[in-house]
Amino acid sequence: MGGPGTSGMREVPRIRREATDPVPSAESGRRAAWDRLAREIHACRRCPLGSRRTHAVVYRGTLSPRVVFVGEAPGAAEDRAGIPFVGRSGRRLDAAIARIGLAPSDWGVLNLLKCRPPSNRFDRAAAHTCRPFLDRQLALLRPNGLVTLGASALRALDPRAPPVLEAAGVPRTVGPRWLFPLIHPAAALRSRRLTERWEHDVDALGRWLIAG
Ligand code: SF4
Repeated sequence: MGGPGTSGMREVPRIRREATDPVPSAESGRRAAWDRLAREIHACRRCPLGSRRTHAVVYRGTLSPRVVFVGEAPGAAEDRAGIPFVGRSGRRLDAAIARIGLAPSDWGVLNLLKCRPPSNRFDRAAAHTCRPFLDRQLALLRPNGLVTLGASALRALDPRAPPVLEAAGVPRTVGPRWLFPLIHPAAALRSRRLTERWEHDVDALGRWLIAG
């Protein structure tokens, strides 16, 4: 049996950790993994949208959310700011979140696509290429549930769901999490009927969160 010094190799001195040194934790590892992922997204040119964007748009919210809202793609305001849901739709979403009483420590928001598609037209091929980023984000964020915003987000996260106007406002189960579909807040700005539908379904989400 080779004890210390018997192999002829020099013993590597151990580094003594002082009581004041920060202790690496699972949380700091997760934070570092998140920062690496964000840098990868900002550098990405895997699809044609990467060369047209002003900024890649990664995430807004806490890194320990109960709920993650999932939209489709950044618009012009988000592309300029590099932050998701900061335009008119974002203001409507923020108002809804305040109305159901979610605290900033409860939630976050991101999009399927990290770069703005031309004319804000959702690009399915780009979303397929971009999907691994979304999956890695959700694996790091580990929310209890997802709220999809609009038809494309619902289809991407629950391909077996019925059309969004049928599915919205009713919780579903997808894999280990619940999923609550809503129409897109931009759609809610289009007509009185859709505004009422948005408000009705947001209230249903609030009741679902209280019950859960
Ligand atoms: S949309 Fe996604 S895959 Fe395409 S360049 Fe942007 S980050 Fe990369």
